[in-house]
Formats: sequence, structure tokens, C-alpha cells
Amino acid sequence: MRDIIIVGTDTEVGKTTFSIIYLNAFSDKYAYWKPLETGDSDTARVRDCVPEACVYTPLRHFAEAVAPLLVARRQGDTIPSVGEILAARPPSKQPLLIETFGGPLSPLTENALQIDLIRAWRSPVILVGSSRIGAIGRILSACESLHGVSVIAVVLLGPPDPFAEEQIHRYTQLPVFSLATPQNDHWDASSLRRISLSQLPVLQAIDQLVERYYDDRSCFAAEIQELDQRYVWHPYTPLLEAVLPAPVVAAEEEYLILADGRRVIDAIASWWTILHGHCHPPLVAALRRAAATLDHTVFAGTTHFYAVELAEGLLRSVPGWNGGRVFFSDNGSTAVEVALKMAVQYWRMQGYSKDIFICFQNSYHGDTFGAMSISRDPIYFGMYDSLLFEVMQIPLEVEALVEAIRCRQDRIAAVVIEPLVQGAGGMRMYPAQTLRDLWEVAREENLLFIVDEVMTACRTGRLWAFDHAGIAPDLICTAKTLTGGMLPLAATLAAPRVVELFQHADRSRMFFHGHSYTANPLACAVAAANWRLLQKGDWLHQAKRIEAYWTAHLPRWRGHPKVKDVRWCGTIGVVELNLPGGYLSEMVPRWRAMALEMGVLLRPLGPVLYCLPPLCIRQESLNRVLDVFQACIDIA
Ligand SMILES: *Cc1c(COP(=O)(O)O)cnc(C)c1O
Repeated sequence: MRDIIIVGTDTEVGKTTFSIIYLNAFSDKYAYWKPLETGDSDTARVRDCVPEACVYTPLRHFAEAVAPLLVARRQGDTIPSVGEILAARPPSKQPLLIETFGGPLSPLTENALQIDLIRAWRSPVILVGSSRIGAIGRILSACESLHGVSVIAVVLLGPPDPFAEEQIHRYTQLPVFSLATPQNDHWDASSLRRISLSQLPVLQAIDQLVERYYDDRSCFAAEIQELDQRYVWHPYTPLLEAVLPAPVVAAEEEYLILADGRRVIDAIASWWTILHGHCHPPLVAALRRAAATLDHTVFAGTTHFYAVELAEGLLRSVPGWNGGRVFFSDNGSTAVEVALKMAVQYWRMQGYSKDIFICFQNSYHGDTFGAMSISRDPIYFGMYDSLLFEVMQIPLEVEALVEAIRCRQDRIAAVVIEPLVQGAGGMRMYPAQTLRDLWEVAREENLLFIVDEVMTACRTGRLWAFDHAGIAPDLICTAKTLTGGMLPLAATLAAPRVVELFQHADRSRMFFHGHSYTANPLACAVAAANWRLLQKGDWLHQAKRIEAYWTAHLPRWRGHPKVKDVRWCGTIGVVELNLPGGYLSEMVPRWRAMALEMGVLLRPLGPVLYCLPPLCIRQESLNRVLDVFQACIDIA
């Protein structure tokens, strides 16, 4: 619907006057709705002044002329939530002129401001202010608080002020209009009608901006797909894929919002990155603050508070790691490469030539050459096999590890493992005791033990998955959720045992690795804010809630003839089907298209249907994911 939201810089600046003037010009086009009002009823005034317009009754009206939240409190009442207000939109065939109350930052409910509602509406905003003295500052402040919202025009009510128009346009780049209001005290219906008719060209110009906004948006989806098909190469996607990529225009909580307005549940947390939810407000705030302060600095020879705070936090999460260090990079694959290079150098600096890694069948550690070498997946990486270095890939069993060490003891540098869950290899889960046993064998043989927590960090009901096994690894790789999913950042944590070997002034013995964006301040600032959130521990309750949901609901498919296995670990829920074709099964694109049609973004790993949601996911969304699983099973 082509709704418009009327927002004022403040209360009493003329939002209702503007609505009346606008509605007078377009009474057959728009209907009016003010969901919340206090004091004298603006709705009643609009009805009186524009009787031919369709004017909807407010969702709530409070007689006392103070903030809605305050009246509600005094009356022992509550204000409807953002979701409830969205759901209460009148079933109007005409687009709505939606009038807000107060200013953008006026309190709405006990834990939301009006701006949260304005954002959630996703309709363009006309920002109304008075042209009296102070107009520039009031409008610019309001624009600051409206970040992330499409303000399409600024309207100054009162005597025209060309200087204010010029200054506001200069700092906002927005079209600015002045609208005269009736002289003196003639604010009756006929004066307002006259003033509206006399300024019809201005009103039409504003409405054309609204039209253009919506027209641009509706051709946007098709256009972006067309350009995408011409210019862009997507990861893990055939260039001639039949189903075009879905154009995403916004994201919030567990939803991706598509160009056609559909809200799709991001059931895979956007490749396992999004932790709390999309655009999580504390993280957005951290990014905004940092972006205005320090964009980037070379990390060799300079340092910054964000990286230092984050590194300290990360190291504190590993007990007994006094003397450990954090090395930053950009993504999971590089975090792994760093760990591999550190391990090799660790032995080399002691005079050993230990350069063979032990890794496990069905493991996945990333797409760069080192990471591919220790993943060795024939489907993913078979084509590059001749370039991959030698590793020992063994079954994930203690006996296999003992045997492998017996064969090549003098050459083995480290064991590399995904703790508890092998992600891309099919969400395969194994007991913490197995991890502990493997670690004990490695420790007895004095091998380095590298845990790749890139997928598992914060997903298994604990911060680190290895913590379930009570082990002390030597190198820890983390990336995906490190910034809560907002920016690319990775870290390789090195135990004191590893760091000690590098404690040299000798330049030939430093660690020869670095990226242009190592420890990017913006990413570190967001990650540090994320780390502070994790210390509060609320996220653990959310993780427990999701785990309890899987425990209650996944067993329904146990014993189903098409289902091979159901399993879950922390927030990860899996239904694996009996399906021929493995990862490249033809069923996968059909499943994905059907899931999207049902409002859920899935990326099954071959026959493995899984959900790895953002922590904020609500019960209804989890229910929807299960409906999609059922539909997938039905067509399999
Ligand atoms: C995703 C993943 C990686 C690679 O991370 P990227 O950021 O995609 O390079 C490495 N290890 C594991 C366990 C992963 O799940």
C-alpha cells in the first residue's frame, strides 16, 4: 500500500494542519488514520474539516493531553506494541495518510520509541516542522533521529523562509517545501480548504515525490535482478541458476525484507552469521558511533581501543590463558589459515619440520587453499586437489587418531577440528566426550590442537562449543558471529604456549601475515559491543528456548519412512532425509523455492534440512520453519 507517514519535529508544529491541507487536495486518493492520540482529538478535527475523506478511528484515544505512555501508566493501561499497531492498520483500499504523535523520539511503549514504529512501517515519511525561528535546527535534529527511514520531503508550515529552506536542503539533500497556513485565527474548515486549493501545485509536487518513491521501488525488484544477472557472480550458485536471487532491501530481527515487501524468515541466520537478530539496535548504535570517529587505520604500527577491548574480552573467555594473544583477520577461512601458519611456524622455530595436519572426514574449514586442504571435500574442492597440500584426513574417532599419529608422528603439526558440530559437511553432531578424548590423545602426543569455532561459537548453548568438553585448545578460530553478523571480522586466539615461541625482537621470527583490513576499527567496535552483550548472558536464555523448541518438536519425524535422522545441538535443528544425490541433489533447489514461497529462507545441505536461526526468532517463526520442513518431507 502506498501509505505516507506524517512525522513532526515536535508536538504542536502542525502535523494535523498539514494532514488537513493535504487531504483537502487528495480526499479521493488517501484515507486518514492516527493510531494513537491524546487530548483534543485530531481525528475529529480532520473529520470536521474534510468530511468527504475517509477518516479511520484511532486505535487508542486518551483524553489527557500528555505522552500516551504517561496517560496509559496513570490509567493502569498499556500502549499497543509496535507489532500490534502494524497489525491494526485499517483495511483501507486507499493508501493511508498516517499521522504520528509528538516527535520521532517520543516514547511509545515501555521499551520502544515512536521511531521504532516509524521504521517498522517502512513507508516514506513527510517531515513537518514550523517555519518559526529555530526551524533549521529542529528539522536537522529530526532528520538525524530518522536515519534508516525514507524521508521524501520536508514541509515548513507558516510564512516562507527561504534561508531555512536553503540550509535544510544543503544539509539533508531533501526537497524542502513551504506551505502557508491560514492568517490569524481563521483555522476553520473553509479557510483550510481555501489555503489548500491556493497551494495545489506545491501539494501536487509533494505527492509526485510519493508516487515516484513507490514507482521506483516497484520496478526496483525486477531491475536489480536483471542487473545482477548481467554483472554479478554469486558464491556456491550456478551462473545459470533457474531461480533468480531474491532482492533484499532491508532486514530486521529474524526477517529479511524483500523488494516486493515480503518478510522472509532468515532460518539460516544469513550463512550462520547473524547472532541476535538483523540490525540489532545496540550493534547499529556501535557502528554509527565508530563510523563517525575512526574509519580505519593500518594495524601494523598503530592500534586502537576497539581492538584492544575486544582482544581482552576474547582472551578472558578462555580460562587459564594468561599470556594468550588475539590475531585479527577478515573471515573464517583466513582465521583458519592464520592458525595453520602459526602451527607450522611454531614447530619450525623449534627446529622441527612438522607440517602435516590431521583433519576429519566431513569437516569444512573454508575456501582458501589451506582451508580447502584440511577440508578435502571431493564435491566442493575435487577440482583443485592437485594443488592442495598433504594432510591426514581420518574418521572422527579416537582409534583413528591414535593410528594416524602412530604412522606419521614426527611430521604432525596439529589436529584441526570443528567442535561438536561439523557444519557445512552436513550438520553432523558428535558427543563432547569424543572431543575430549581426541584432545587428550593430542595432548599426550604434544600436538597442537586447533578448534575451528567459526560456525559453532554461540550456537551450541555455550559461548565456545569446545567448552562442553572441558578442554584447553591451543588455537581457536572464530569469525561468523564475532560482530553479531554485521561486519566481516575474524580472530585467531593463540594459547600462551604458542605465543611464547614468538616472543622475540628478531624480525625474521615474527609472524608473516596481515591483511589490509586487519582489525578494522568499525568491525572491532561492533564486535566489542557484541561481546559486551554476550557478557550479560541474556542470549543464553534465548539459546535455551530455541533448544527446548527443537527438543519438543523435532522428534515428531523420528521413524518417518523418508527421514533418516533428526538431531539438534543448541540452536541448530536438523532433519536429514533419505535422499539420493547427496549435496548436489536435484531436490535442493525445489525445496528452496518452495520454502521461499512459504516465507522462509532455507539452504539445505543436500538431504540435510536444518535451521540455525538468529537468537531473537519468535515461536511463530519457528512453527513456520517446521511447516516448511513438513512440506519438504512431503515432496521428497
Ligand atoms: C564458514 C566456515 C568457515 C569459513 O568462514 P568464511 O568466513 O566463510 O571464510 C570456516 N570454518 C567453519 C567451521 C565454517 O563453518
